[in-house]
Amino acid sequence: MARLRSRVSDVMTLRPDIIAKGPRDWRAPPNLADFDNARATFTWDAARRELAGLPGGGLNIAYEAVDRHLNTAARDHIALRWIGRRGQRRLISYAELAAHSNRFANVLRALGVDKGERLFLLCGRIPELYIAALGALKNGSVVSPLFSAFGPEPIQTRLAIGEGKVLVTTEALYRRKVAPIRDRLPRLQHVLLVGEDGKTTAVPGTLDLVTLMANAADACEIEPTGAEDAALLHFTSGTTGTPKGALHVHGAAITHWATGRYALDLHADDIYWCTADPGWVTGTSYGIVAPLMHGVTSIIDEAEFDAEHWYQLLQEQDVSVWYTAPTAIRMLMKGGPEAARRYRFPRLRFIASVGEPLNPEAVWWGKDVLGLPIHDNWWQTETGGIVIANTPALPIKPGSMGKPLPGMDAAIVRRREDGAIEEITAPDTEGELALKPGWPSMFRGYLNQEERYRKCFAGGWYLTGDLAKRDADGYYWFVGRADDVIKSAGHLIGPFEVESALMEHPAVAEAGVIGKPDAMVGEVVKAFVSLNSGYTESEALRMELLGHARKRLGAAVAPKEIAFLPVLPRTRSGKIMRRLLKARELGLPEGDTSMLEGSS
Ligand code: ATP
Ligand code: MG
Repeated sequence: MARLRSRVSDVMTLRPDIIAKGPRDWRAPPNLADFDNARATFTWDAARRELAGLPGGGLNIAYEAVDRHLNTAARDHIALRWIGRRGQRRLISYAELAAHSNRFANVLRALGVDKGERLFLLCGRIPELYIAALGALKNGSVVSPLFSAFGPEPIQTRLAIGEGKVLVTTEALYRRKVAPIRDRLPRLQHVLLVGEDGKTTAVPGTLDLVTLMANAADACEIEPTGAEDAALLHFTSGTTGTPKGALHVHGAAITHWATGRYALDLHADDIYWCTADPGWVTGTSYGIVAPLMHGVTSIIDEAEFDAEHWYQLLQEQDVSVWYTAPTAIRMLMKGGPEAARRYRFPRLRFIASVGEPLNPEAVWWGKDVLGLPIHDNWWQTETGGIVIANTPALPIKPGSMGKPLPGMDAAIVRRREDGAIEEITAPDTEGELALKPGWPSMFRGYLNQEERYRKCFAGGWYLTGDLAKRDADGYYWFVGRADDVIKSAGHLIGPFEVESALMEHPAVAEAGVIGKPDAMVGEVVKAFVSLNSGYTESEALRMELLGHARKRLGAAVAPKEIAFLPVLPRTRSGKIMRRLLKARELGLPEGDTSMLEGSS
């Protein structure tokens, strides 16, 4: 019997610590049913052999994602179902995607773009972005997708340090964001423009992509890339400081394939929706590569987040597998369960989340409101693919990130005083999350930061910079980023635990927790909360939240101070920026805020 613990909500309920699963919870037989056996027998070599490989030898992500389906039944299957901002629709089959991406590769070839040269993408979620990414990979170019809401500064910095030779963007984005900085980008040789609604353009200093594509052949010889050839350059989210450029190789496709199978449970007949923008690694690894490799139909929604629109899409598109993020889930939760209950999701069978810790409240919300628990998984830009996950095979412990996937070896470690790395085997003990290098999608370097890259490795481990613990059943629990952990009166306090406890209170929509220097105890815990609709800040509510947290966490861990904020500062990829909460609280310089949502 699962132990019961109480949880405060509108109605007091008792929640088990575990969400058990059985065959009745699986709406399709899962790819991963026997977790332990899969872990014991999995090898990356065997996974590599499940990929096609280039006909003449070698490995290319775009070939694995698109062209290898051309001799199968998937050829005429819809690869991308695009839904435009104004409700326009476009369906692109695998065969069409192959032809379009071939044309794009030929455009690059005609421009003299060589293997290894870098191409940046700055587009909203429009079909051309997907076509250009795949075509550029076929050409052997290194693709770096940028988030289209970036202002001119972050665009300029990335293009400059990434030595971008080609930029694909839209006429509107070019005029607003690139033209003003163009003279600061001497290495940028070609700007390829897409007009509004895919129309032609004529802007001085740029090339019209529509015309170039129309004149290019739709067959091409894919550059014979190897597994170790560079393929993608992804910038990190900038949650802890200036973003780093993580380099990835074509061999990453092996991880994308295996994790799409195990962690997202992709089946060929799935309608899959990854809500992440391709400007972030999730939107590329799992918004482009993994779903295409599995031959599924992906929903591409151009519009920004809107709760009604999202529920409507889930329903009308018959989404079966949905990969989203805690911020989005919290925003849906903020809208209340009634909004969701106006819709039906009979085909939805698997929901996963990544990017930030997923509070237990959110896991339960999925089960209560959508009928399915949300499967949290953990990874980083640096890991290139999902590492630790809740999978269909195992029960969920809400608040845990799950277990390392087949092929991934993790440990909790600490650095001894002599500098050596020591593995912590005792359960429930906090330390740094470390991974055994060797999985194919591991980053191969930080652009121009060799020393920083080298420092990520010690004692045979890759050190993630995140603190976590492992319980006796082998489940991993996120504690906080090493930079965010609070040291108070000899205790190490992880912000996630405090934030999750606050979120159990019905008034709290979001919480961000920091350590505030204190002469007596080192640091005291301070929480910033935003409230759900229907609640207003008051002294009485502050006292109630302080009391609630003390009851849940004990006096040593509970916040001593709580402040109300209308919204918490977030990165453009949606993560709470605790370092900014702290800088503002202490009146310190805010550091690099180019990644702050809403900044220009
Ligand atoms: P930067 O490295 O520039 O500070 P970032 O670490 O936020 O930014 P990403 O690579 O996008 O950049 O995010 C990876 C980090 O996000 C992880 O190291 C971890 O801190 C956090 N994260 C991702 N998924 C989870 C999860 N499921 N639970 C807890 N934390 C997560
Ligand atoms: Mg990071």
